[in-house]
Amino acid sequence: MGYDGITEQNKSEKPYEGYEKSDQTFLRWYNHQKILNILRTAGPMSRIDLAKTSRLDKKTITNIVADMLAQGTVYVSSIQKPGNGRPKEILALSGDFYYCIGIDIGGTHVTAVLIDFAAKVLASKTIDLHSHVPPDTILNLCDLLVEFVLENSGLTMEKISSIGVTFPGVVDHKTGKSILAENLPDWNNVPVQKIFEDKYGKVVAVEDCSRTMALAELWLGDNNCENFIVFDLGLGIGCGIVINNNLFTGSNGKSGEIGHMIVEVNGPLCTCGRRGCIESLSSGWALSQQTQNLLNQGKCNILQNLISKSENTPNMKEVILAAGLGDESCQELLAKAGEYIGIGIANALSLFNPAKVILGGRLIKDNRFMLESIVETVRQQTIADIYRDAQIELSGIGDNASAIGAAILCLQQCYAS
Ligand SMILES: [Zn+2]
Repeated sequence: MGYDGITEQNKSEKPYEGYEKSDQTFLRWYNHQKILNILRTAGPMSRIDLAKTSRLDKKTITNIVADMLAQGTVYVSSIQKPGNGRPKEILALSGDFYYCIGIDIGGTHVTAVLIDFAAKVLASKTIDLHSHVPPDTILNLCDLLVEFVLENSGLTMEKISSIGVTFPGVVDHKTGKSILAENLPDWNNVPVQKIFEDKYGKVVAVEDCSRTMALAELWLGDNNCENFIVFDLGLGIGCGIVINNNLFTGSNGKSGEIGHMIVEVNGPLCTCGRRGCIESLSSGWALSQQTQNLLNQGKCNILQNLISKSENTPNMKEVILAAGLGDESCQELLAKAGEYIGIGIANALSLFNPAKVILGGRLIKDNRFMLESIVETVRQQTIADIYRDAQIELSGIGDNASAIGAAILCLQQCYAS
């Protein structure tokens, strides 16, 4: 096989396979990927600046850029005319070269996003779920969401190259099957990849939602560091670990199960069958149960006023809102949950010494009582030197991070090097 770069035919293949690293074809492919990644991370630039940044000679850059222009991965976005010098063509990634859809199936929502070759989000849509929804209905909701993002991007399904699907759980990466989806019990041992391949006729990649959240941070977050951990706080609790700018998946794809770190021996029963995991004390589902118990005891009066009309079990948005309105029981509940999460983060800091901990997910959104408690606990419970190395920040990407990461899961093969 000769060098083709990325073409319609081999978008899912690795063109260097079968070559030794000393082979010129491999080097050319490797340099091509290097330039693509520079344009992705640093933005549009001229050939001269590409040569400086990549440390490749100008002739190599000229050849690679010629290939890229012919393939359509880059285009000339503008022309700079410096004083007396020659005009410089500014090269940028062609967004329309490749499109991916990311679908995030959670316990309380389903989200779809559509991104282009430059990882720009062109459209997104979420449907909130207020009760248990069977898989068939979830799949129908996916159809609605996919239709929405296509329509709002002005695209048809033919233009989509691949689809990333994410959910909270462990994935068998060889088969694309869910091994365990604790907070989506209907999705245990389900051939997720095959279902979506059959459904949409596209290449499908599957991954855990905390990992895809970390992938979104790696590509699109304003992080400027190579080692960080993303805590995904929602109905369940997970984390995505980035080491040396790479997502760490573990020896068998099961890293990041921080929600099942035990922080209270003989604590409440967890979905994993053990007791006292962070998730059994501080996750969305655990806090829902704890709130219900408080309501049964006649506490959480402000919350009670908020939910009395609908007579639903309180959801975490309502609990966070009640805390903000001065409901002391809700404030204490969120602060206590933050302590356990803080202990988990302190332990993770000691283990990995990351430069940053990013907090994402719907449970931490607008939740200052939990956030303050997390930050204070981490400060108290971490060795001072290690604490000083790390910043704790809220994710700047927002609610769609996992879905965006699912789409990037597909897109990243174009940039693999
Ligand atoms: Zn557990």
